Amino acid sequence: MENKIVAIDGPAGSGKGTVAKILADKCGFVYIDTGAMYRAIAYLTLKNNIDLSDEDNIVKLAKESKIEFIDNKLYLNNIDVSKEIRTMEVTKIVSPISSIVCLREILVNMQRQMAESKDVIMEGRDITTVVFPNAKYKFYLDATLDERAKRRYKENISKGIDATFEEIKINIEKRDYNDTHKKVGALTRTSDSIYIDSTNLTIDEVVEKIYKIIKEEA
Ligand code: C5P
Repeated sequence: MENKIVAIDGPAGSGKGTVAKILADKCGFVYIDTGAMYRAIAYLTLKNNIDLSDEDNIVKLAKESKIEFIDNKLYLNNIDVSKEIRTMEVTKIVSPISSIVCLREILVNMQRQMAESKDVIMEGRDITTVVFPNAKYKFYLDATLDERAKRRYKENISKGIDATFEEIKINIEKRDYNDTHKKVGALTRTSDSIYIDSTNLTIDEVVEKIYKIIKEEA
């Protein structure tokens, strides 16, 4: 039987991660957070003091890295860096780093391999367009900028990540712009994706909406 792929795209703070994680548990699918993979390379770039303009060395880092998800935690070269990749330092440089075309090729290949012969829920920016354009289930999750900044602010407080609301809002706005204007892998809403505006919906309501569609068509 063919494996099932649920592809979810959307901007930062739209709820993709939270919703995808719950859905994956509910459906018994593997959850893949592709943003975390770009963050892992951004983290390594910082750790190795590599300049953002040094694309060759950033790509080299990615080629030499092992990225795995174990129990929804991200292991980079066998070390759990799930916390380290969420800092504001990493968040500030991840979007420019993810604009490096050769880096995207490497990570897209890894993502396709991770989904081989498994049922997966994969979320990011280019899953419905580049990674799995033929996925059976495609969704675009959205919310207003203010609501997304509020959510990220609350989330950061609960995780002990230091950042003001204004700082978060400005970062999200910048990332939105950069992520929608990339040469390759830009965030776009495709006509064959189901659009969900989660601004006034609870997480459970979004989960239910997607779950119903997956189950109805299964
Ligand atoms: O999903 P998250 O906000 O953690 O993603 C961090 C960054 O990684 C995004 O702002 C985007 O620049 C990049 N990204 C990407 N393609 C993906 C997932 C994330 O370029 N599929």
